[in-house]
Amino acid sequence: MFNDPNFARQVIMDHYENPRNKRHEQNYLSKRMDSDSCIDDITVYVKLSNNRIEDISFDGVGCTISLASASMMSELIKGKTIDEARDLSKEYLHMIQLNEYDESKLKELVVFKNVGRQANRINCAMLSWRGLNAIINESEELDE
Ligand code: ZN
Repeated sequence: MFNDPNFARQVIMDHYENPRNKRHEQNYLSKRMDSDSCIDDITVYVKLSNNRIEDISFDGVGCTISLASASMMSELIKGKTIDEARDLSKEYLHMIQLNEYDESKLKELVVFKNVGRQANRINCAMLSWRGLNAIINESEELDE
């Protein structure tokens, strides 16, 4: 299904028009990410508990790809452990870099598998993931 470009486009537009988990969270860890090549300005919010992503949301403005990928990421990552989140992030990066990846792990995020062919869109597709990784890395520095 996700190999059908029309279906992939529909999934992306649905997440862009009805983004999941798009809200500001005052008391969560947060990371603001922007882009000098696009309008994207997205903040990722994460609530960590016992090495698990108990909750995740995002807010801001962005292009279709950055907002839709943030929405899908939030659904995939919510409830995962930090290790699982890191692993998924790595698989997603492999896909965007047009390397081998595990399709079954990324679920509907595979709709972005061709983004890596458009160099100027890669940053858009990675923005929210980079925000998530920055939050995870910073939280681990605080623990030490
Ligand atoms: Zn963008």
